[in-house]
Amino acid sequence: MNNVSFAELVFGPAGSVFMYSMLIVIIAMTMLVSLRLLMNRRKIGYFSMMVAFIILLVQYGQLIRLAINASETDASAYTALLLKVLAFVLFNIGIYQLYNVTRMRDFVVFGFFIAVSVLVSLTFWYIPDWLQGSEQQTTLLRPLFTELYLFLLLFLSFLLVNPRVGQNGKYQIMLTVYFTSHTLHMANVYLFGGRQPFLMLLEELIPFIFHIVLFLFIFERVIEVMQAIYHSSITDGLTKLFNRKYFYNRTSQFVANRVPVSVIFSDIDNFKKLNDTKGHHMGDQVLKQVAQIVKEETEDTGICGRYGGEEMVVLVTDRTVDAAELAERIRTRVEQESIVTVSMGYSHWKKGLSADELIKQADEAMYQAKTTGKNKVIGF
Ligand code: GH3
Ligand code: MG
Ligand code: MG
Repeated sequence: MNNVSFAELVFGPAGSVFMYSMLIVIIAMTMLVSLRLLMNRRKIGYFSMMVAFIILLVQYGQLIRLAINASETDASAYTALLLKVLAFVLFNIGIYQLYNVTRMRDFVVFGFFIAVSVLVSLTFWYIPDWLQGSEQQTTLLRPLFTELYLFLLLFLSFLLVNPRVGQNGKYQIMLTVYFTSHTLHMANVYLFGGRQPFLMLLEELIPFIFHIVLFLFIFERVIEVMQAIYHSSITDGLTKLFNRKYFYNRTSQFVANRVPVSVIFSDIDNFKKLNDTKGHHMGDQVLKQVAQIVKEETEDTGICGRYGGEEMVVLVTDRTVDAAELAERIRTRVEQESIVTVSMGYSHWKKGLSADELIKQADEAMYQAKTTGKNKVIGF
């Protein structure tokens, strides 16, 4: 076996093949994550990403071939460049779609960019008549337009995509890294005739940063989406309070652990009349306002939820808080700050009481408040 020097290993074809292979592994991993998400979430953004990753895999496969087989034609080097441009466009479309609902107008814009990219790529085969240089110069100039077009795309990404997506820090790092990598590539090709080994090495190393950040970007997006799904599954859309199921589960948990909690049950007075006289929209606004008061008063001391239509409940978990006083504070604020009043009941947990019974007692106390004049607090 021949001895291979360290420099040859790092700067030679073997080094390139190794680097590209590693990149392919990272890209394939990101692609698998996206595929999983595409199958679960059916969001079109993951689809665009998938196509971009497939193109990138082909591109790096192509680059490996070029590294092994140095006698490849310009056309295959150009194919690699075209794939790079196309992958870049699709990658940006994918990131945009991960944070935005794709509308008809967006498809028009995407179509426009893909069409322009194809048109620009055709310039490779168009050699103007006035161009008179050696064959080597012509070879160098043919892909120039497409190479410069990538800079335009980078600029447009900053301008158009960046303001419309989340995780801007990561996105900007990716664009900056891409820009650096492409600038080095251009410098190497057009200033050093593509033979500066150190620049070549950098050109191979920098995409690693890009793809690692991209992996983190997608990973973080998954966490964001999961958190949003979980949040919406335990809260009520209108009032932003916890929903009945979550409230009940938490109450059961405390009761099972024999924590001496209290439950406050409240119901808005004459709400039907308000809906009838001032409209459903006004009703919703008042509901939100009352919910906001309940939330503000209980945020640090308990869990508040929307139990039914205009029924709100509080689980008082802080032992130092007196449920009767808390309920009275809420009642007074609602009376003073909104156009409605609330009737409230409360009950303390005692040994042997189930969560259902505890809530039912508070409800019964509230009912007593209703039947004895409303706008008051009564304990069970
Ligand atoms: P009471 O003082 O006895 O509680 O009288 P009420 O009119 O409030 O009676 P009840 O509690 O039975 O009525 C609840 C009404 O709340 C019925 C429904 O029209 C209204 N409601 C329930 N959910 C919503 C909602 O999400 N938005 C609006 N605007 N109204 C709602
Ligand atoms: Mg009511
Ligand atoms: Mg009611």
